Amino acid sequence: MYDIIIIGGGPAGLTAAVYARRAGKSVLVLEKDALGGQITWSPRVENYPAIPSVSGMDLGNLMAEQAMEQGAEVEIDEVVEIRDCVDHKLVCCAFGTEYEGKAVILATGAKPRTLGIPREEELVGCGVGYCAVCDGAFFKDQIVAVNGGGNSALQDALLLSETCSRVYLIHRRDRFRGEEKLVEALRSKKNVEFVLNAAVTELLGEEELKGIVVEQDGERRWIELSGLFVAIGHEPDNKAFRNVVKLDAGGYVSAGEDCMTGTAGVFVAGDCRGKKIRQVTTAVADGAVAALAACAWLEG
Ligand code: NAP
Repeated sequence: MYDIIIIGGGPAGLTAAVYARRAGKSVLVLEKDALGGQITWSPRVENYPAIPSVSGMDLGNLMAEQAMEQGAEVEIDEVVEIRDCVDHKLVCCAFGTEYEGKAVILATGAKPRTLGIPREEELVGCGVGYCAVCDGAFFKDQIVAVNGGGNSALQDALLLSETCSRVYLIHRRDRFRGEEKLVEALRSKKNVEFVLNAAVTELLGEEELKGIVVEQDGERRWIELSGLFVAIGHEPDNKAFRNVVKLDAGGYVSAGEDCMTGTAGVFVAGDCRGKKIRQVTTAVADGAVAALAACAWLEG
C-alpha cells in the first residue's frame, strides 16, 4: 500500500510527488499518457520564475526527472475509478490493475476543448489537430489556420508562422484574451492573417482536410488549407472521480485554495480543480499545497 497515490503526471502531480517524497511518504504517480502534462505542448514557456525561456517539453521532462530522482514511482495507466474503502482508497485502472493508497491526490489537468462541429472527430490526424508543437512540422510550406484567442492559440500561430506558408488566426471576438506581446509579434509577421469575429463552421475535404468555411460578420468565407489547429482552451475530465468528490458545474473538482476536497484522504491539485487562474505556476503551487495537506492528514 502506498502512502499517497497521485493521479496525473503534469506539473501539479509531479510537484506533489516531490513534496510528498521529501516528507518521507511512499508515492505512486499514475499517468495515462506522457509525463509533463499539457505544458509539453507549449513551444516556449517564458513566465516560469528563474527560467527565462524553456520549451514546455524540456520543463515537463525536468519536473518528471526531479520527481523520480526523489524516489516517486511512476506507472503509465488510466484510472477509471476510485473506491473509498474506509482505511484506504482503491485506485482501479483501465486494464484491471488496482493500486491501494492511504491518500489520493487528483491532478488530472484538463484536455483540449473541441469545436463540436461536424466531421471534427473524423478528421483528427487528417488535418485537424489540437497540438501545433506536436504536429506543426507536418505542415511545412503549407497553409494552416489556428482557432482561438488565448495564449495557446497565439503561441501556436507564432510557431506555425515559422514554417508554414500562411497562417490564418481565427478568433470569435475582435480582441484576444492572450498576451499583447504575442499579438504584437504576430502582427509583425507577413504570413499571418487575423480573421476576427469569426467562427469555423464547416470542415471540407473527404479523407483529408482541404479547407474550412468560416462565418465572419454574418458572411460565409471559404479558406483553402491543409491544417486546422484548434486551441480554444481545455476542459476537465473528472467523471471517473464523481463518486468520491464533488464536481462543479464545469466538471472541475470543488475545493478551495487548501486543495481539500471534502472527502477524507482525497486532495486535488492543478487545472482539474475549480479555480480562476490556470498557469504552470499555479499548478505547481497546488501540488505543494495538496501534498503537504495529504502528509498532515496521514500523520493525523
Ligand atoms: P484560454 O486562455 O482559456 O483561451 C481559450 C480561447 O478560446 C479564448 O480566446 C476563447 O474565446 C476561445 N474559445 C473558447 N471556446 C471556444 C469555442 N467554442 N469556439 C471558439 N473559440 C472558443 O485557453 P488557452 O489559450 O489554452 O490557455 C489556457 C491557460 O494556459 C491560460 O491561462 C493561458 O494563459 C495559459 N497558457 C500559458 C502559456 C505560457 O506560456 N505560460 C502558454 C499557453 C497557455 P474568448 O476569449 O471569447 O472566451
